[in-house]
Amino acid sequence: MSVALNLSTIKNMLPEEIELIAVSKTKPNSLILEAYEAGQKDFGENKVQEMAAKHDDLPKDIRWHMIGHLQRNKVKYLIHFVHLIHSVDSKRLLDEIQKQAHKIDRKVAVLLQIHIAKEDTKFGLDEQELDAILKEKSTYSHISFKGLMGMATFTTDTHQIDTEFAYLKSLYDRIQSRLDQPAHLSAGMSADYPLALNHGTTMIRIGSAIFGHR
Ligand SMILES: *Cc1c(COP(=O)(O)O)cnc(C)c1O
Repeated sequence: MSVALNLSTIKNMLPEEIELIAVSKTKPNSLILEAYEAGQKDFGENKVQEMAAKHDDLPKDIRWHMIGHLQRNKVKYLIHFVHLIHSVDSKRLLDEIQKQAHKIDRKVAVLLQIHIAKEDTKFGLDEQELDAILKEKSTYSHISFKGLMGMATFTTDTHQIDTEFAYLKSLYDRIQSRLDQPAHLSAGMSADYPLALNHGTTMIRIGSAIFGHR
């Protein structure tokens, strides 16, 4: 298993404008460095402490993406370095990000996570909550609203996944003009990214297909 080879195989299949986030959660710095040396600069993590430790130890031009459920009391540990928070799943979390970003006078980029899966174990906003947040967008002086993120149901039923990604894309198209440009739609993981590509994703989050199984 070669990280560099996996990366180039995936990259060769991707349209040039699609951004690839290498999901390095649970993986050691040595493997992250292999990907980094092969040219990968965007990495995704789902735990704040792990991401902060990796940020401390690894090259400073790595762009760190928070992709997992983020607890409000942990926001302060990533606010100064995070590149993009994909997983804003409540207004209360957004309020905390605004508060901490204001404190350090940094504008922080976020995606609003939409609940598109059938499973209720996955986090995210519904359409009404999304609209309510966007209505108050101008009150968030230190947040840059960059787009939407979604996770499809974990299933082999491709029709189900297609339906979920299509729904996410329709929401994205509806609100696109209200976002800070260039806007992003973050959808697709190792198992379902070819489907996400059919539904207008601009950012895919790939872990196991690059680094091997966790
Ligand atoms: C782990 C994770 C991924 C990557 O999953 P793989 O199946 O390993 O590609 C993508 N997005 C989120 C939110 C994750 O937690």
